[in-house]
Amino acid sequence: MSRIVYLNGDYLPEQDARISIFDRGFVMADAVYEVVSVLGGKLIDFAGHQARLKRSLDALEIGNPLPDDDYLAMFRELVTRNEITDGMIYLQVTRGNPGDRDFAYPPADTPQTVVAFTQSKPGLADSPAAAKGWKVVTEPDERWGRRDIKTTQLLYPSMAKMAAKAKGADDAWLVEDGKITEGTSNNAYIVKGNTIITRELSRDILHGITRAAVLRLAREAQMQVEERGFTPEEASEADEAFVTSASAFVMPVVAIDGKQIGNGAPGKIAARLREIYLDEMRKTAI
Ligand code: PMP
Repeated sequence: MSRIVYLNGDYLPEQDARISIFDRGFVMADAVYEVVSVLGGKLIDFAGHQARLKRSLDALEIGNPLPDDDYLAMFRELVTRNEITDGMIYLQVTRGNPGDRDFAYPPADTPQTVVAFTQSKPGLADSPAAAKGWKVVTEPDERWGRRDIKTTQLLYPSMAKMAAKAKGADDAWLVEDGKITEGTSNNAYIVKGNTIITRELSRDILHGITRAAVLRLAREAQMQVEERGFTPEEASEADEAFVTSASAFVMPVVAIDGKQIGNGAPGKIAARLREIYLDEMRKTAI
């Protein structure tokens, strides 16, 4: 079945959605995006993702194309029209179409391009990978310096993902100045005893919406949280490891660079956090 997608105010069959070859998103990766999960037909942590969209747009001086309430209405319309029970909504906003290619930004009144589409993933929260855990390998972090802005410049994370797959792993953990920044599309954590360790917020990492929720819930559950960088060596000697993202939720990590972490099975704290997170998110889904 062809999807119904959103493009600049219209709901269209995916094959009818067209944008210009001069769109800044296409020629310059001058665009930001968000991914929101859908569980049981409802949106997970929608407000968090909408707030980060605004921060990304502000950081790049791209105007916000829609009134606040329109995003929620549009997401719900896409869920309904595509009969999504579990899955994701992808939203992208570009600086629009200046009608030619130029490094300078087009005039501020150039309309932004807004695209959104659904991805159906039945059983998203029951993924068999969560019971098995991911294997990661380290790769150098060769991305640009503003990783706190959620742009569509995803070529390097794609390359790192492919390098990981070539080594038989599920994902790469990126390393800069000897410390892990984050995964290709997720935030990275280790657990030592009862302490959860994850890199502090800065321009070096994306400020994950799932990260914020998981750390809040961990503190509420009396777990210790330390926000600091850690090395691959520290990770290989940790009791547990995991990653978080809007679509993987809390995903255990069981090996790094071929070395097993803990006993090589998903850890208790990761499993508990996954449960607490999914519970809370289902309760607060809209
Ligand atoms: N870091 C990077 C580089 C990402 O691409 C993502 C997911 N888009 C995350 C972290 C996790 O962010 P969130 O929890 O908001 O999905």
